[in-house]
Amino acid sequence: MVDNDCIFCKIAGGEIPSDTVYEDDLFRVILDLNPATKGHALILPKQHYANIYEIDEDTLQKLIVLAKKVACAMKDTLHCDGLNIVQNNGLAAGQTVFHFHLHIIPRYEEDGQDLNWIPGKSDPAEQKKLAGMIGAAIK
Ligand code: AMP
Ligand code: ZN
Repeated sequence: MVDNDCIFCKIAGGEIPSDTVYEDDLFRVILDLNPATKGHALILPKQHYANIYEIDEDTLQKLIVLAKKVACAMKDTLHCDGLNIVQNNGLAAGQTVFHFHLHIIPRYEEDGQDLNWIPGKSDPAEQKKLAGMIGAAIK
């Protein structure tokens, strides 16, 4: 399904032009308009899925294989020193475009970016409880 009101559906379908890195039947890989670093790319499925909860497993499996290929191409061409793969779900997690996409962000020594979180403290009893709770809900 494609959502006629979704900008990433339009970009993935070629209706809105983009700096396309790669395209096949299922995906378009584009450069981010506001790149965190040089080469920051987005993998867009051509079908509309709002987030990780909606995307089907078959598409997701193919997407992660493509992510590896893009990552290797970046390493070879951009000679980046590292690489982050980021995927946001929901406003609280920083998602701004509600069409599933995977960020592939090449990293360079001293690129000035900070994608890290602030490490917290864990409580052993709560950790045990959480591990059991989440694990029991995996379908
Ligand atoms: P997120 O915050 O995970 O939803 O990421 C959305 C990303 O899409 C941001 O990094 C934006 O810079 C990027 N973006 C938004 N509109 C466009 C566009 N027209 N072309 C390329 N990238 C875009
Ligand atoms: Zn869409």
